[in-house]
Amino acid sequence: MMKTKNKPVSFWRRVPKVQIHEHIDCSLRPYSMLDMWSKIGFSASKLAFPAEIVALWNGEGQKTLSPSGRGAFVANARRKAAQLYSDWVSSYAKESLNNYLAAIGFHVLPLMHDMDNLTRIVAERIEDAVKDGHIAIELRFAPQLHLGPTGTENSLDDVMRATIAGLKGSPIPVKLIVCALRHEDGTMAEKLADLAIKYRRYVGKFDLAASETTFPGVLKWWIPAAKRVKAAGIGLTIHLWETNEPTAEDIALLDEVGVPLVGHGVRGHMQGNRVIEVCLTSNVVTGQYPTFSDHPVDQLYRSGVFLTLNTDGTLFTQTTLSLEYKRIADTFGWTAADFLSVNLTAVEATSFSPSLKARLKAQLKRGFAAL
Ligand SMILES: [Zn+2]
Repeated sequence: MMKTKNKPVSFWRRVPKVQIHEHIDCSLRPYSMLDMWSKIGFSASKLAFPAEIVALWNGEGQKTLSPSGRGAFVANARRKAAQLYSDWVSSYAKESLNNYLAAIGFHVLPLMHDMDNLTRIVAERIEDAVKDGHIAIELRFAPQLHLGPTGTENSLDDVMRATIAGLKGSPIPVKLIVCALRHEDGTMAEKLADLAIKYRRYVGKFDLAASETTFPGVLKWWIPAAKRVKAAGIGLTIHLWETNEPTAEDIALLDEVGVPLVGHGVRGHMQGNRVIEVCLTSNVVTGQYPTFSDHPVDQLYRSGVFLTLNTDGTLFTQTTLSLEYKRIADTFGWTAADFLSVNLTAVEATSFSPSLKARLKAQLKRGFAAL
């Protein structure tokens, strides 16, 4: 198969891809965020917007133009505002983990308290993923983060219904992954397990996410909920070994429950026969590795580890799956055959039916053969 080094991103967009690790709340369109914020009021944000971005969005400074001239001016200014906002929010988030959390908490979550916004965000993410060449995707989220400003305005059912509404009309197969969060507890995990089981037609997997540094390892309160979800025929994955080294206890617990997938997992690759969900740019942005060439993805792949390629999110890392592929091709010289191989692994790791998996694999092989 052909070599793929130094191909433009447009080439990678045409390559068929399957992704299994992307967070909805880290993958919003900057333009839509500004649009939604403009309806809430920019001044309502607890983390102040740079004045230049607000002024551009509001089309300030050109009041003398004709109505049509003014329309074009505002459209242009808003596109520029969205670009500046993307740069600002991602560079702010990159400064520290606290800033990253503040960016999600103050700039993303207030938008996702509104159920119409939530539906729009999911629908737009799928639209963008399709444009980026995805032929199937699993999107993850923590429904308990979208219950409203005081946590009581929406129910978990409201959140699920709004999210599922965003999947309607998707041209590609999509499954949701429900995330329990490390700073929560078993009570919430059981509620989320109930939710995942109730909406199992749409929910493919159950996850444990958030700060591994503050709450390390496989948390025991997650285990009973995970076992119950698994018994209902739903898959399991867990954010682990992204920032911390594996422990014998982690491995024993994963073996006990039978967790076949590890989100990130780059530090624990020798531990068992699990598929890992690699997120290259995310790991560099959060400082796990200084540069792309320091990342172990190539070494892992060459040593026979089953891995998949993912974004983790597109907003704070300013990436796309096409860009992830380009970075890996340009840094490590992967061929199209290598990318096909990790995509076939990703299909096998999805929660889709055996017949859909077979169709997706055939679609990948056809797509790669045509490159
Ligand atoms: Zn993640």
